Parts: sequence; C-alpha cells; structure tokens
Amino acid sequence: MTVQVVSRVEVSSSLDDTLIGHYYPNRAPLQPVPFQKLPPGSIEPQGWLLGQLRSQINGLNGKLWEISDYLVYEQCGWVDPTKSAWEELPYWLRGFADLGFVTGDQNVLTLAYRWIDGILSSQQSDGWFGPNALRTSLEGGPDLWPAMPLLHAFRSFYEYTNDVRVIPFLLKYFQFINQQPIDVFSRGWSYTRWSDNMDTIIWLYNRTTDTNWLLDLIKKIHSNSANWLTSIPTWHNVNIAQGFREPAIYSLVVNPFDPRFIQATYDDYQIVMNQYGQFSGGGFAGDENCRVGYGDPRQGFETCGIVEFMYSFEILTRITGDGIWSDRCETLAFNTFPATFDPFVARTTHYITCANCIQLDDQVKSQQQFENNFAMLSYKPGIHQYRCCPHNHGMGWPYYAEEAWLATYDGGLCASLYVSSEVTALVGPNDGIQVTIIEETDYPFDGNIQFRFQLPTSIQFKLYLRIPYWCKQAPILSLNGNILFNEITPNNGSYLIIDRLWINNDVLSLTLPLSLRIKTWISNSNSVSLSYGPLTFSLGISEQYNRIGGTDDWPEFEVISKSNWNYGLITTNTNEWLIKRKKKKNSCENPFTMDTVPLNLEVRARRILEWKADSQNVIGLLPQSPVHSQEPDEILTLIPMGAARLRMTSFPTIAQ
Ligand SMILES: [Zn+2]
Repeated sequence: MTVQVVSRVEVSSSLDDTLIGHYYPNRAPLQPVPFQKLPPGSIEPQGWLLGQLRSQINGLNGKLWEISDYLVYEQCGWVDPTKSAWEELPYWLRGFADLGFVTGDQNVLTLAYRWIDGILSSQQSDGWFGPNALRTSLEGGPDLWPAMPLLHAFRSFYEYTNDVRVIPFLLKYFQFINQQPIDVFSRGWSYTRWSDNMDTIIWLYNRTTDTNWLLDLIKKIHSNSANWLTSIPTWHNVNIAQGFREPAIYSLVVNPFDPRFIQATYDDYQIVMNQYGQFSGGGFAGDENCRVGYGDPRQGFETCGIVEFMYSFEILTRITGDGIWSDRCETLAFNTFPATFDPFVARTTHYITCANCIQLDDQVKSQQQFENNFAMLSYKPGIHQYRCCPHNHGMGWPYYAEEAWLATYDGGLCASLYVSSEVTALVGPNDGIQVTIIEETDYPFDGNIQFRFQLPTSIQFKLYLRIPYWCKQAPILSLNGNILFNEITPNNGSYLIIDRLWINNDVLSLTLPLSLRIKTWISNSNSVSLSYGPLTFSLGISEQYNRIGGTDDWPEFEVISKSNWNYGLITTNTNEWLIKRKKKKNSCENPFTMDTVPLNLEVRARRILEWKADSQNVIGLLPQSPVHSQEPDEILTLIPMGAARLRMTSFPTIAQ
C-alpha cells in the first residue's frame, strides 16, 4: 500500500493500456482528463443532501409544473413545434429530470420521461427540434441557445437508461447546427454560452465512432463565438458563470496540448473575482451585469448565476484535476445557494442573493443600488417576475450529488465533494469490478469522514481524497484504526492517493481539521469575514417573514430584520471566539435554517451608529475599517451564512 500527495491530479503518460477509466474516457485525439463523471444513479446521496433533494421533490422545482404556464405539456412548443416556447422548459427539465435520476423518485421520473419522450419524438427531418418560431427568431436565423440545457437532460437520461434514441437524435441535431452559416454562432445568448454545447459534443464524440466532424464543429464554434481566451466578452453574471469555462473545454480538442487555453479559464475567473467577488460566499456582484464601482457585498448574484457557476466548477474539476474548483463549488453550495430559497418548504426563490442584506422586500430600488429596476429580493415562485431563476435553479443539488464521487482515469475513485453518500462503481483494470463505498460524515459541519468498503472480492485500486485549500493543519488518515498519514499538505488544494489491495469491510477515516479563519477584504473597505472550514459565518439577524401574496400552497414572503445589524467586530481577542455545536434532530434535516443550523460562533462587537440603511431599506455601503465606536461591547451570535437569509458576512472592524 502507498499513500501519495499530489497538488493536482494529472494523467500519467506512462499509463497501462488496460487502465483508462471505465466511464467514457476522452477518445483520441481529444486530450485525456483525470476524472470521469459517473452515470446518475451510481451515487445515492444521504444525510442533509438527501434532505435537500426530498425538499426539492415537493418544492419549487419538483412541483413547478403545477403553476408555471411555461410547463403546460399540451401548450409547449418543445413537444408541439407549432406552439411557442423558449428557455423555461429546458431550464426546468434539466434540473427536474436529474432530480428523478439521483433520487429514483417514480413520480418525478414518470413526468420527466413524458417530457423527454415528447421532445425526442418531435425532431424534424433536418435535425431541428423545438418551436418552429425559433428557427428564424434571430436575424432570420435559428436561436440555438434554449435547446442547450435540454441536451444536458438528454445526456443524463441516456446515462441513466441507455435509451437508443438519444445518440441518433443528438447526431442529427448537431448535423443541423453544422450546416448553419457561421454568423449564427455570434448571435443571441448562445454567443457567450457555446461551451454548453461544446461539452455536449465532446460527450457525444466519446460515445460514437467515425465522428471527426464533431471536432471540426467545435473548432468552428470556437472561432465564431465569443472570445473568452483573451477577453471577458460580457459582464452579464450568468454569461460569465457559464462562459468562462469555454477555453478549458476547448483545450480538449487542441492537439498537441496548449496550456494557454486552460490558463485562460483560470485567468477569466480571477479577473472577475478580483474586481467583483471581494466578499465571502463564492459569488460575485452581478445583479444583472457587473458594473464598475459596484463591488460592495450588498450587491447581488442571480440564482441562475449561482447554479451555473457551481456546474462550471464541477466540470473544471474533472478537466483540470485541480481541487480548487471543488473548493469553489462547495463555497457557493454551502454559503450562498441555500439562501436562494425560503427556509420552510423551498417553494420560493428570489432573483439575487447578497452577502450583506438586511431586508428582502418586494419594492423597486430606484437609486441604482442594483442594476435591474424591478423588485428582486422577496421570496416568490416568481414565474413571471424572476422567470429564468425559478425554472433554472433545479440542477443545483442534483448535479452536486452526481459529482460527489468521480471515476479516475486509472480505474480508481475520487471522493470529490464530501457528503454522506453511497457510491457503486467499477474499479480496477480491464472490465473492472463493481464495488460500493459508503461515506458517512456531517461535513461541512464536521471534519470527520468515514469510508466503508463493501467489496465482492479483494481488489487493488486507487482512492483519491481531496484536501481542501483551507486545510492548514495536517489531515489525519487512518485505515482500520491505524494512522496512515498525518502531514501538512500543499496549499490551494491537494489530493491524497491511497493505492491498496482493498479488503471487504475496510474502514478508512479522514479528519480534516476545521479551524477559524479571518479574511480581510482590503478592496472592500478593509472589511473582514470569518470562516470555519468551507463555511463562512454571518450575523444571525432576527428574521420576520411576512406573507405578501400567493396562496397557502404557494406563498410569497418579504423578510424584515427585527434586530440590530450595524456592528463592527473587535478583532483583538480572537482567541476568545468559540464554536458551539448543537445536535441535529435527524440526519436528513435541512441544516441551512436559523433553527436547525448545527453550529454557531460568539464574537465581541460594537454597534456603528452612523452605518445605516438607505431610504429604500438597502444596507448602506461598508464604512472604511477600522471604525471608531463609543458604543458598549456586545457578544454577538454568528451562524453559518447558508442558514441566514438576512445576512451580514462582511463586517467592519472596530478601532482599538
Ligand atoms: Zn435567473
């Protein structure tokens, strides 16, 4: 047995031909990638993630078809091309179908199959599918954007069912695209979002033969669509969240390998975050487009942007073998995504979620606080008010569950996003042997993770464990009670690789030491935020939910603060800061509510009386720290920010 530490996972050039991974490795001449996605159904989520998915089944995504007029089967242009339709059904079905695949819920699956059957059978002789009106809706040419999310649903459907209709359908559709004049690639929303289809074309290439034309199509798309290689071609938040991965995806068809492309994706991310992502939570200030001078943590990030960014990070982990992308995915998933829903039944969302926010109301903010001039903060089903987000958010948790475990290029498995789950997958050389690993943990609220191996026979394979960037102390790895590894690993993401002849009932334990960190955001007025492992803490502002409309089944809420929020932290006594832990009631409980969140933190602070909300109840811009205050010291309780809908996560500091 060996234990190795690597800063990122790279495909070894001396690879044995019998070890190329069991889950559709990239076919030559594509560049190889270190991680392969397992088909949905391979991973059974447990614990809080299963709780989120069950809530989703009965929540906004799972029941949206009951109230959204975009999702009326008989009226929808995606099954009857004479009718109209655009992105709403594709957005919704992408999340809803995978919700069925990861949970196995029969009601969800039945409805998803009905839609997929209807859409697959509506394809026309030239390969086009969907509303006829979209054939000519962009300068006389086709609008190719709204079909892109549907293709993801078809991919998952194929991986889950092996349905023989999917591959010919996709080949015929991409032949249609391949015959379009090149102007088409620079039009509409698809201009900056083509990496969605590039990723699907690579998926299709790996499952077909004699399809080199697909690689030529990717090159044609890349040459004629937005330039993400040397520029940020759009400052629209969702376009960025989807589009910045384009160079990394395109790098897979560039042969010989050219590092400039993957580097461009790293650079694009950094450019955006350096300018607009200078606060905790993993998102950036894009309350439609990013605007120069609007980077305060009171700015918002669209719900669509959140789930698209998470998905990009999941894809980039697989392409780059760099755990920093999984770290970034966790940051968004734990700190920002849960607050996009109400804490009760998750039947409402809002358009934007902000790191600092003291009121979620239904009033237009007319003083340019946010770019959009419609009300974006209150919790609603929002079918017409928020339109894209209620339909698009559904992929967030199902995709997260599908990426918790990854197959590796050398026939092993990687625990990529830590969560209680059970994975069943092929490992080892040649055709492989199916094994099951049960992962038990309260992560991210606890750093202990246990893996129990259920094997039909002893088998040698590599298990990859991600060590997050925030893990500054030595992780402890032990096998059947004996310590295997206990050393500090390199910063900014590492992997432990355990190569062993695994034996049935082996138990491997990993402890990631959680510790409190303080981060200063120099460009945001020297404010600070406090994190513990992947969780950031927020002031637990008392939240009053007022019903403002809707029905009993589909209520709408505003949220008003009932306690003071304008505090600065006293940071000279951080050794007094104490994490307190309370017991969860059951393992599937939603931990992302004020009542159920299992951790809190007490800190010393003082009020800053001059820091106020504006006349429209939007929190004032951060004052420059350190701030003088003559107010008395108070002990504040902070909670993980994912559980706070009203939230103060970037704090001023008090001058001492
Ligand atoms: Zn949206």
